[in-house]
Amino acid sequence: MKKYDVIVVGMGPSSVFFAYEYLKLSKKKNILLIDQGKQVEKRNCPIEQIGKCVKCKPFCNITSGFSGAGAFSDGKLSLYNEEDDDIYVGGNLHKYIGVENTKRLIDYTDKIYLDFGADKKLEGIEYKDEVSKMKAKAKKQGIDLISIPIRHLGTEKAHELYKKLEDYLNQNGIEMKFETIVQDLIVENNKIKGVKIKPARFVEDEEFSDFEEIYADKVVIAVGRKGANWLVDMCEKHNIETRPGVVDIGIRYELPDKVMEKVNTYMYEGKFIGRPHPFKDKVRTFCQNPSGFVSEEVYDGNMALVNGHSYKDKKSTNTNLAILVSHHFTYPFDKPIDYGRNVAKNLNELGAGNIVVQRLGDIFRGKRTWDYELDENTVRPTLKSAVAGDITFAIGYRTMTDIISFICDMDKIVEGFANPDNLLYGPEIKFYSNEVVLDNNFETSINGLYAIGDGCGMTRGLMMASCSGVELARILEKE
Ligand SMILES: Cc1cc2nc3c(=O)[nH]c(=O)nc-3n(C[C@H](O)[C@H](O)[C@H](O)COP(=O)(O)OP(=O)(O)OC[C@H]3O[C@@H](n4cnc5c(N)ncnc54)[C@H](O)[C@@H]3O)c2cc1C
Repeated sequence: MKKYDVIVVGMGPSSVFFAYEYLKLSKKKNILLIDQGKQVEKRNCPIEQIGKCVKCKPFCNITSGFSGAGAFSDGKLSLYNEEDDDIYVGGNLHKYIGVENTKRLIDYTDKIYLDFGADKKLEGIEYKDEVSKMKAKAKKQGIDLISIPIRHLGTEKAHELYKKLEDYLNQNGIEMKFETIVQDLIVENNKIKGVKIKPARFVEDEEFSDFEEIYADKVVIAVGRKGANWLVDMCEKHNIETRPGVVDIGIRYELPDKVMEKVNTYMYEGKFIGRPHPFKDKVRTFCQNPSGFVSEEVYDGNMALVNGHSYKDKKSTNTNLAILVSHHFTYPFDKPIDYGRNVAKNLNELGAGNIVVQRLGDIFRGKRTWDYELDENTVRPTLKSAVAGDITFAIGYRTMTDIISFICDMDKIVEGFANPDNLLYGPEIKFYSNEVVLDNNFETSINGLYAIGDGCGMTRGLMMASCSGVELARILEKE
């Protein structure tokens, strides 16, 4: 019977940094990492060559495999301002370990990124006065502007950096199982015993019964947003305690670099947060990519979602960013993931399985966008496979009103933000599981079962996901 000290489900940044730190601290290296995707060097997205998403089987290479969603991410590592007395970006890790500890953890984790080749240059630290003026202007529109230092890896460099980490873990005896799905957790008397796995090529085989069981005293769930749905099933099946979570639903917005010039220059990524009239929902910009490219990623059941990234060397003339609305549901409906999936399903169907793109001006005019209109548009779409159509058919009135009001408010801060030729792509949805209830050791209500990273609702983003892994390694080493 094969037994490990620790099994980690998922190999995103949270898992990779857990393994790195555990290796460093622990003499016992008997740990196994499992991912349904491939080694980082085998992950290729065909969209680069053939211009459209072919929905890779068995899993999307953008979101699965070594370094998870990090491999093709823009690689913006969000740090912090020394003077801030709170952590404004990246989720809730600081609520478990405190603000000052989180800052120290970011410094430590950032150093690991630097050791593995991250760019030494920090974005967003030179233009303090200009940023203060922009903050004041934003405040007048009821919008908060968060500006924090960013280390930008760039998509192609992120890939290289994570390859070095993969080699390092390999060379130091960390066992990794790729193209393997963790189907189920083995729980007995409220204690974790291990996991049940099957080869990824059988993902759609519902008759499959030849599961392998692997045992461990400790199992770490690090499944990212990709595994949020699986985690919901696990929580229901094994009575893992959760509290209602959120789903962030919105669009990817693409506009000329020229319009975003000041924001890009002063901050690289400005995080604008508003509560527009009349619903007062939280609306925020996220993942801003100067001179970037809009991208597509595929989740379970062929669900196509939009995202964006930018390279260090290859440049477009557009900036893209997400505009997301946080959706909380309480009673009688408390299934944020189902709600988000339904929005995605409707919009995917309207686009014949593709991402839909629409001009802002067409939304104001109450009409869809046509392909020939995009050909003449001043803002050219960088996601060539997107299909012109009407996003407003699928995104609900409340969400759409939030987004449009926010864009109009932003126009008073950044002139040209509401230009009619700017493009909206949908759906962009950030799924998190219902938030898993964790104690201060990141342990769930099942003994020996831990959770880190984005999937359990603890973090949002590369840096914090990585930090959560480092912290858990330290916690387990102390036990
Ligand atoms: C295109 C794109 C751009 C991004 N840009 C940025 C950015 O610039 N800055 C930033 O901070 N963040 C960015 N992000 C988000 C960032 O990548 C994530 O926050 C981060 O990767 C989360 O890490 P994680 O370890 O929690 O999970 P993930 O990276 O999502 O990894 C989870 C892994 O678990 C695996 N898995 C899930 N379920 C199972 C199962 N049942 N069995 C086996 N394996 C399983 C998945 O295959 C996946 O590899 C971007 C994301 C994308 C997709």
